[in-house]
Amino acid sequence: MRKPKIVILGAGYGGLMTATRLQKQIGVNEADIVLVNKNDYHYETTWLHEASAGTLHHDRVRYDIRDVIDRQKVEFVQGTVEEIKTEENRVILENGDIVYDYLVIALGGESETFGIKGLKEYAFSIVNVNAARQIREHIEYQFATYNTEAEKKDERLSIVVGGAGFTGIEFLGELANRIPELCREYDVDFHKVKVICVEAAPTVLPGFDPELVNYAVSYLEKKGIEFRIGTAIKEALPDGIIVAKGEDQVEEIKASTVVWAAGVRGNSIIEKSGIEAMRGRVKVQPDLRVPGHDNMFVVGDCSLIINEEINRPYPPTAQIAMQQGEVCARNIAALVRGKNELETFKFDNKGTVCSLGEDDAIGVAFGKKIVGAKASFMKKMIDNRALYMIGGASMVLKKGKFNIF
Ligand code: FAD
Ligand code: NAD
Repeated sequence: MRKPKIVILGAGYGGLMTATRLQKQIGVNEADIVLVNKNDYHYETTWLHEASAGTLHHDRVRYDIRDVIDRQKVEFVQGTVEEIKTEENRVILENGDIVYDYLVIALGGESETFGIKGLKEYAFSIVNVNAARQIREHIEYQFATYNTEAEKKDERLSIVVGGAGFTGIEFLGELANRIPELCREYDVDFHKVKVICVEAAPTVLPGFDPELVNYAVSYLEKKGIEFRIGTAIKEALPDGIIVAKGEDQVEEIKASTVVWAAGVRGNSIIEKSGIEAMRGRVKVQPDLRVPGHDNMFVVGDCSLIINEEINRPYPPTAQIAMQQGEVCARNIAALVRGKNELETFKFDNKGTVCSLGEDDAIGVAFGKKIVGAKASFMKKMIDNRALYMIGGASMVLKKGKFNIF
């Protein structure tokens, strides 16, 4: 009898969790497993703000996919997915195509610019290793160039971060540590540097605990970060941005670096493939399958699950992507074995910790508020846990964060 073929698209948190759990649960005689990813490496998306600021080398945030898969059981194909032909059970890659019996879509998120003019052209987004490297290099270049020009342009030393969600705040925390280093390295007066965070909502980290928000804002302000709250980015220009506070208070902010951290969406491959979605996120069934497609699962940032308590979607996080990967693997194993009763996914929210740089953080973990060194320690443990869940103890030893005391 022909073995079914399970194809997993994307080797991020959701995809790798599915693959590493499936390789334990499925025998070689039961199914073929194929994992497809653009690069031959996995990156810790949750560490990209560090690589972007230059506080952590980009090689620390990635590892070879082949180090965590069992190559006897999982075939790795390096390729870029262009489209999924759902009617034909076929995935079109840039360099060929693959047919499947079961498909897992785990292609992650993309930056959402909401059609704001100029953002795609002039702003950076913290989305992958290439982007992180480019942001780090760009900022460093501005510092390196500042003292070489006869007429010094202060906007070279201005950085705008759009959005004070978790990504924006974590990136600002890293910048706050990196800027003094850059000033020393390039003989730049620290007081000439401006880091401005522009947030459209009336508060930083909308929806998060106000006491923790206040802690984060005052911590970052002390380190020189300026916040413009209730102010929205309206347009990006080659040398800055246009913001508006309310209807009439429109202002131009000159800055050579604009980092847009104000929105994420699911992968556009979803819409390109004609799969029903909201901003690239598929409202999956409780068993993580796509409605009307019994052999297609979606996990991670491309999926959308409603939190029934508040009737709003759960935010897309690595935490939920990894938990989905575990359930997805069990459900596929059940289908391969001819069982039709599948497990319902239930998110077990273990909390949220937001770093404020190397040695400070805020968070709610196991229902308790934490700040400072304790929260920072917890954040590093969470980072190490993700490595452990996918790559085991050896990956923690290789890539883990141990600078905790
Ligand atoms: P990803 O982990 O992003 O993986 C997607 C994979 O698909 C990548 O390997 C990519 O290369 C690949 N891929 C994409 N397109 C293609 C294609 N066309 N063809 C082939 N391969 C492709 N969440 C938390 O829970 N905690 C945190 O602390 C946290 N911190 C974050 C910090 C930052 C700076 C950012 C940006 C996000 C953070 N998040 C955090 C959110 C979290 O990173 C995402 O929700 C999570 O990465 C989603 O996992 P995923 O498996 O869906 O996608
Ligand atoms: P987000 O959508 O959570 O936050 C974006 C912020 O940008 C919001 O505060 C929004 O009000 C603001 N904004 C939107 N349009 C704007 C505009 N035109 N001008 C100025 N501000 C504008 O996005 P994110 O912070 O990138 O987070 C994405 C996902 O990743 C979330 O689910 C988040 O929970 C997760 N994440 C988690 C962590 C963590 O747990 N430590 C860290 C980073 C990201």
